Amino acid sequence: MQKLKILHMYPAMLDLYGDSGNVEILGYRCKMRDIELEIHKHNLGGRETDFTDYDIIYLGGGADFEQQLLADDLLGLKDKIQAAYDKGVYFLMICGGYQLMGQYYKDSNGKKIPGIGLFSYHTCASTNKRCRCIGNIVIETELDGEKYKVIGFENHGGQTTDITSPFGKVLFGNGNEFGSQAEGYSEKNVTATYLHGPLLSKNPKLADHIISYCMERKTGEKFTPSEINDRLEEECRSQLFDRLLGGKG
Ligand code: GLN
Repeated sequence: MQKLKILHMYPAMLDLYGDSGNVEILGYRCKMRDIELEIHKHNLGGRETDFTDYDIIYLGGGADFEQQLLADDLLGLKDKIQAAYDKGVYFLMICGGYQLMGQYYKDSNGKKIPGIGLFSYHTCASTNKRCRCIGNIVIETELDGEKYKVIGFENHGGQTTDITSPFGKVLFGNGNEFGSQAEGYSEKNVTATYLHGPLLSKNPKLADHIISYCMERKTGEKFTPSEINDRLEEECRSQLFDRLLGGKG
């Protein structure tokens, strides 16, 4: 049996709106292809030595308070995380996790939480605590050369700027900033997004895209994931597209 390894960072602190479900979805979709997904956790003070040993590094979303609590620990891992990124390990990051991989996150009190600076973007929240991007969101991205609509739920005060390569174009909702055209950040081995959901339960093709990337990186061969019956997921998606995009989905 093939095996992939995921490092789930700060699972108890970064788990807004069921974000840990993303790891479960990856595990389920791997299992359906006879791939074991071995899940490791990094908690505050954890002593993993080799981050390059993983196929996926995952961070969920978190409130300002949790972001503040874990920022120093994350900073201490900067070189190890950079090494994993340089080797092509896949990074999946949601909301608060997305923010902390950039330069910094300035919260609504003006307090600056340093990010690890793996990417050049930065995030500032409005000083008005009530000013938040909240609600359903639909974006359009490209996966393996095909357009794909990604659906989720956003709830963030942070406004992220200096994005060089967004994850998608906003069709409904806000995205990186209020009324923004762009959502998230992406590279070949990076998906960073404001979309909770959990993200991968509503967007099975994105989960398969990540699994395929990891399998191809590991084996050096083309990986085509076998079909899974996603009828319920697809029905749910089409109902939400009807509701949010007026049938343009
Ligand atoms: N605390 C951050 C913000 O409000 C991130 C929130 C989140 O992860 N949903 O922007």
